[in-house]
Amino acid sequence: MTRLRWGMIGGGEGSQIGPAHRLGALADGQFDLVAGALDADPDRGRDFARRLGIAPDRAYGDWQEMLEGERNREDRLDLVTVATPNATHFEITRAFLQAGFHVLCEKPMTMTVEEAEEIVCVARDTGRICAVNYCYSAYPMVREMRAMVRSGQIGKVRLVVTNFSHGHHADAADADNPRVRWRYDPALAGNSGQFADCGIHAMHMASFVTGDQVERVSADFVSAIPSRVLEDDAMVNFRMAGGTVGRLWTSSVAVGRQHGFDIQVFGETGGLRWASEQPNQVWYTPLGGRTQIIEKGEPGLSEDAARLSRVPIAHPEGFPLAVANIYVDLAAAIRGETRDGIPLAEDGLRSVAAIHACVSSARAGGQWVDARPPMFR
Ligand code: NAD
Repeated sequence: MTRLRWGMIGGGEGSQIGPAHRLGALADGQFDLVAGALDADPDRGRDFARRLGIAPDRAYGDWQEMLEGERNREDRLDLVTVATPNATHFEITRAFLQAGFHVLCEKPMTMTVEEAEEIVCVARDTGRICAVNYCYSAYPMVREMRAMVRSGQIGKVRLVVTNFSHGHHADAADADNPRVRWRYDPALAGNSGQFADCGIHAMHMASFVTGDQVERVSADFVSAIPSRVLEDDAMVNFRMAGGTVGRLWTSSVAVGRQHGFDIQVFGETGGLRWASEQPNQVWYTPLGGRTQIIEKGEPGLSEDAARLSRVPIAHPEGFPLAVANIYVDLAAAIRGETRDGIPLAEDGLRSVAAIHACVSSARAGGQWVDARPPMFR
């Protein structure tokens, strides 16, 4: 089988998410990295691209140059990843979709609901895949939880409780550090800080595992460090279309919490728990029974969890391999196979709508607000 041709925008040297994309995309021999506009600084981008083995004529200074250079090649790209800061996602993703490329965009997909709806429409009109990197949903044991919920092992889901709370922006003396400050500056981050950064991963996970969609939200946003315009802590209550009750806490000032992403699903006949810091286990408690720990790699896992595990039981698989699972399914989808579970533009749109609904709710003292994107109402 020939390898697919892959290009990246953003994710330059020293970026946070760039290495996870490269480790993930290249993990299974499905993709070759053949083009890139990797950095906001054209020279740094070209230099880094060459050091990664990209041919000089495909080491671009910016994304517009990459679009022009790639659109008419016979060996054009099969997939473009957009891993730039949030405010640039819309323009780049739309341009590459319109030129007929499949795209994997980082979250949040866009800054506004209108832009997100436009991306959904462009993907539908062009027939191209637009995926969004909700990579936590691709951990094998998250897939196991989803399979257990789907097969009725915990009965009807009553409650989903999820947290994505860390303490890495808790130092008030560091609040003016440029790498931290932009995340709470509306000009650069949009209308939400911590919820848009981490909370949407948790909200996506709640929908992904329960199979239910968020309908209404009531949010309480706080800037625990008062100089911040945008929130660094948020509590969001939500209600889902199928009746599931949701609770979500996200924070960047929770000193002592490291990655701090976990989810619990409580059904009528059992409960499940998964945490990103112990990603190879799911805790399962049947009603009236003992808690069991289900391990990645053990016999009897769902087909999805088993196929997305690579190394044997008790050997850790972490974040880059969760990203690899997104890429392996994208490769299959690009080759025309059906794959269930790839987070798509519709999921990106739901998140952007949820961000805006939470901001409105928080400004209105926690009033319940419709969180569905207009095109899904
Ligand atoms: P970062 O600031 O660490 O790196 C951004 C990179 O993009 C840098 O290399 C920068 O030079 C480059 N860049 C900026 N503007 C560019 C442009 N116009 N053209 C080409 N390159 C450009 O940021 P990050 O933390 O890596 O975040 C990037 C994106 O990834 C954000 O949207 C963020 O929300 C997302 N992210 C997602 C996850 C996840 O788990 N899915 C984790 C971290 C970050």
